[in-house]
Amino acid sequence: MSETPEGSKIAEIIINTTAKRLQQTFSYIVPDHLDVRIGSRVLVPFGHRREEGIVVALREHLDEAPAFELKPIEGLLSTQTGFQEEMIRTALWIRDYYVCNLSDALRLFMIDKKGLIRGAVLSLGPTAPQGPRQTQLQAYVAERGEVEKGTLGRKFGDAAVEQALKDKVLISHISYRNRIKDKMEDWLSFAADDNEDILHGRRRQQALLAALKEKGEAPVSYWQKEGFSRDLMRRLCATGLARWSQRPTRTANILPSMQGDAPLTLTAEQEKAVKVIGSDETSKTYVLHGVTGSGKTEVYMHLAAQVLERGKQVVVLVPEIALTGQIVRRFLRRFDDDVVVMHSQLSQGEKRNNWLRMQSGTSHICIGARSAVFTAAQSLGLIIVDEAHDSSYKQDEAPRYHAVAVARKRAEYYGCPVILGSATPALGDYYRALHGDYVLVELKERVGKRPLPSVQVVDMRDELARGNYRVVSDALLDLLQATLVAKQQAIVLLNRRGFSTFVMCRKCGYVVKCDTCDVAMVYHRQAEKMRCHYCDAEKPIPTVCPSCGSKYIKFFGSGTEKVEAQLHELLPTARIVRLDQDTTRRKHSGDRIIEAFRRHEYDILLGTQMVAKGHDFPGVSAVGILSADSLLNLPAYWAGERTFQLLTQAAGRAGRGDVPGRVVLQTYAPDHYAIQCAARQDYKAFYDQEIEARRELGYPPFQEMAKILVTDEDETAVWRKANDVAAALHSWNKEHGEAVAVIGPYEDIIKKIRGKYRLVLTLTGDDLTAVKLAMQHLPACWQSGVIIDADPL
Ligand code: ADP
Ligand code: ZN
Ligand code: ZN
Repeated sequence: MSETPEGSKIAEIIINTTAKRLQQTFSYIVPDHLDVRIGSRVLVPFGHRREEGIVVALREHLDEAPAFELKPIEGLLSTQTGFQEEMIRTALWIRDYYVCNLSDALRLFMIDKKGLIRGAVLSLGPTAPQGPRQTQLQAYVAERGEVEKGTLGRKFGDAAVEQALKDKVLISHISYRNRIKDKMEDWLSFAADDNEDILHGRRRQQALLAALKEKGEAPVSYWQKEGFSRDLMRRLCATGLARWSQRPTRTANILPSMQGDAPLTLTAEQEKAVKVIGSDETSKTYVLHGVTGSGKTEVYMHLAAQVLERGKQVVVLVPEIALTGQIVRRFLRRFDDDVVVMHSQLSQGEKRNNWLRMQSGTSHICIGARSAVFTAAQSLGLIIVDEAHDSSYKQDEAPRYHAVAVARKRAEYYGCPVILGSATPALGDYYRALHGDYVLVELKERVGKRPLPSVQVVDMRDELARGNYRVVSDALLDLLQATLVAKQQAIVLLNRRGFSTFVMCRKCGYVVKCDTCDVAMVYHRQAEKMRCHYCDAEKPIPTVCPSCGSKYIKFFGSGTEKVEAQLHELLPTARIVRLDQDTTRRKHSGDRIIEAFRRHEYDILLGTQMVAKGHDFPGVSAVGILSADSLLNLPAYWAGERTFQLLTQAAGRAGRGDVPGRVVLQTYAPDHYAIQCAARQDYKAFYDQEIEARRELGYPPFQEMAKILVTDEDETAVWRKANDVAAALHSWNKEHGEAVAVIGPYEDIIKKIRGKYRLVLTLTGDDLTAVKLAMQHLPACWQSGVIIDADPL
């Protein structure tokens, strides 16, 4: 046993690895010469290796003598991409709330997850430099944190570097470096104006200083466009009045922004919304409930402009960049240089540059899908979540976080408001706006007082009785024909892709199923394959029954491919384009299809729920919804809510231009309130009914819910594991006054996916905090294949 050196601080470190057994923190001594802070990424000796660690806490001394000798931290890794203290706090919260590993939670904030390579680097040692050469060398290293030996040798000479190492002005260690070289651009910023007089008689420099004083800072390329030469800028810097610096470049955007666009004059409702949210003082969450076409984006942009005025930053979350290019373009057009767009198709280097721009405060607006909620920031002034009800904000792999909850957590730290914008707010959010600590802000009218579309509900049972066996009802066919004649556009929604949804032998009833999942395979005509929608496995199309050899193979059900074929037959002159997972596999193809449709290169846009994602197509006056019930029959408490949201959003695409919208909604359950309310686009009526049902049944938001999924390739093992989990939870429950209800295990909706059997347990209770913390330590819950999902959607 040994004492820590007198006066040394102790750092609590987690090792950056996914190994579950390394989830606890480890203590290390902080050497005096290292500027270690909470969030620093450090190099530590670990067993026989060196590992990357993340500092999650610092202490002045140990509370008790350690069981073994503490080792010192060996070096700091790139200080640029360390964690901010707020990130550590949020990650700790994510760990506890979503029951995951701390390192997994922290990794959500890391930009260069895979960008690290091992190598020898030099960083500052404990000894002061001797002589001007070593002072220069030290300054060079100090500025960069750590430098490759070779690089340093080329700059200062190998001998000088060896001497500095010998003198302990520098120390050498193995480090993880970023694989990526940052692309930098030159910036010029205002520095001081106290000795302006020295510019006496130098008119151009005076003009530049005045412009700088006004703007503060801008890329050198900007000043060149303003007519100032680089040479002039350098000379001004030499006086100390301006500063030259290098910052990460902005990534070229996949979505080209067009010319600048000026703010619109707000409608009275929009103005009121901007006023309420803009005067937020208590960092509240605002549910911005605006009917489709009410101009929510304009409200976002006005509020963002106000935040920028105060020098703070804004995060804008959208469901999916490729499908919501329009809002991104609008932000780019208005704020141009100040916007970085985070999307999955960026290279690692581009992501890093964007991240660093936000971290350094060079850019002020970050737009992206779910994961952009983890962006670095100097100081956040606003987080906007557009289409906040969208299920893509929930991550369905560990850590299973919800971006809205993370946004709220981060906003709490920064003291800034969060906006949850939607025409169909998530039920829980709306409930909290009415009864809890959220604030409701409404936009009840469409811009220009355009009417909401009129909706005709078609009962498909009548259609069958009349002898129409097509997927498209007569009413919808009439509407589409009229729309084409009027040279307007239409959207047709069908929530099933492929051609036929299952293939069955008429003689023996055999259904073509996936070999590893317990589901029927879908016939894809274009690909000429049977395809599993759960694991993407493919099979050839059977010509005879694989089971009895009969030739009576029949194709049942219709997906988007089949409807496309039917529409081509029914409307031979129509230009039809399909938008679903199959047509958007290639990069940017989703955005390309959407933009081509917007330019009226097509008359009908047919597709899955992708067609309903907040698009603003002024040319669309008609919408057809082919099967309103596809989600309704799912055995999940949110089935009604999802149905209402999808139908209302789809209908809301119609009539956003000058021609009033018309919608045909086909269903087998015309009396269901989710369908009735969607037909009237009456959110409040739906909410009132649905919230009562939830209250009676004790579903969220009245009770918290967590889902535990247990998987295993062996059917006996999966039951044994799930029963272990259940037993552990029951015994915890007994000791804690039966605080939660444990239901299950029972078979999941789909019994088997990718060869693994699936069982489910659900937990409900007024407050699951305690049981979730307990689960972190229940061995049964950490068995392989046990997946915990707080807030299941
Ligand atoms: P939402 O997101 O609420 O469905 P959008 O933000 O897409 O609605 O706005 C619908 C349309 O109205 C857009 O074409 C937008 O440019 C236009 N718009 C929004 N606000 C105004 C305004 N104040 N004056 C004129 N047009 C507006
Ligand atoms: Zn058969
Ligand atoms: Zn499968």
